Amino acid sequence: MKFAVIGAGAMGLRYGILLAEAGNEVTYIDTWQPHIDQIKKQGGVYVMRDHQDRHLVPIKLDTPETYQGDPDMFIFFVKQMQLADYLKSCAHFIDRRKHYAFTCMNGMGHIEKLQQYFDDDKIIGGTALIATVLPGPGEVDFMGKRGAGKMNMCPLNEKPDKMCFNLFEELKKAQMNPTLTTDFTGTLMTKVIFNSVINTICTMFEIQMGEFGNFKGAYEMGRLLIDEAYDVCARAGIKLVSSRDEEMEALDHNTRIDMPLHYPSMYQDMSKDRPTEVDYINGYIVKLGRKYHYEAHTHQFVTQAVHLAEFHRQNLAKQRAATK
Ligand code: NAD
Repeated sequence: MKFAVIGAGAMGLRYGILLAEAGNEVTYIDTWQPHIDQIKKQGGVYVMRDHQDRHLVPIKLDTPETYQGDPDMFIFFVKQMQLADYLKSCAHFIDRRKHYAFTCMNGMGHIEKLQQYFDDDKIIGGTALIATVLPGPGEVDFMGKRGAGKMNMCPLNEKPDKMCFNLFEELKKAQMNPTLTTDFTGTLMTKVIFNSVINTICTMFEIQMGEFGNFKGAYEMGRLLIDEAYDVCARAGIKLVSSRDEEMEALDHNTRIDMPLHYPSMYQDMSKDRPTEVDYINGYIVKLGRKYHYEAHTHQFVTQAVHLAEFHRQNLAKQRAATK
């Protein structure tokens, strides 16, 4: 298949490079100038796996202004707050009747934005339990062994067509371990809820996932957030992929056994003084609750706590700059 990956960051590169290795044609589109300059200078991206085996992988990189291709599918991996601007600057080469959009971005809010540029029967959403880090411009670190991690995918109209099955097969060849699910919103919201515990708590305390998982209050903290989010989804008529207890078990397994040494992707933003996606995760649960006259107080508190942590880091950065 022919893919154009919009957002050559951590996840865009992981999906793109593995899909290319599986025999697909992949071009990347990005706007972060230091990253573009570094990739051009070194002739590709330095790829590592778990900090080891650093090697150069040549890639084809364009900006929205220089891209002239006509892919089967666009893959979106930008941060939620970047998506509207990317879509606007890429609009001139997107044909809504022809092109497909696929994404496994975290949070909620992106699908409505994609719908402004792609027909509903051409949007495929998903979630990825695949950890990847961009240590700096021009290099990417795939966390976990080859074939580790898994993902869910579902077309927005819940009717998989030939293109959706083709994508599924290519992702399988790329060892992304895809599962084709049947409930679009339930699939995406289950991951939002999962992230609303681990991503946010580990990010605001700047701790690895195992440190949270092994904390004796982890169950109680997680349960409060999970119960509130499930209450919101029940009111919104969203059927989640797992039960409350299964979600608690998944949190425990993921933090203590699967990825104890990993910092969640939201932490990567905090550590680089970039804004986090918390408004699209816990903040989204709060917004959805309000639509159904339910106040998700714990998620509201956690959203603001993450913003306080962001604010604190910005102040530290300003103080450091002032004393230089
Ligand atoms: P990323 O930050 O690595 O890349 C996203 C975009 O930001 C790219 O265009 C990239 O070039 C740009 N960028 C990266 N660092 C920058 C910097 N310092 N300054 C300015 N621009 C910068 O994002 P990602 O981790 O690939 O995440 C994309 C989506 O996938 C998000 O919704 C994220 O939550 C989700 N996700 C990430 C992971 C993960 O492990 N990284 C896992 C699952 C889902």
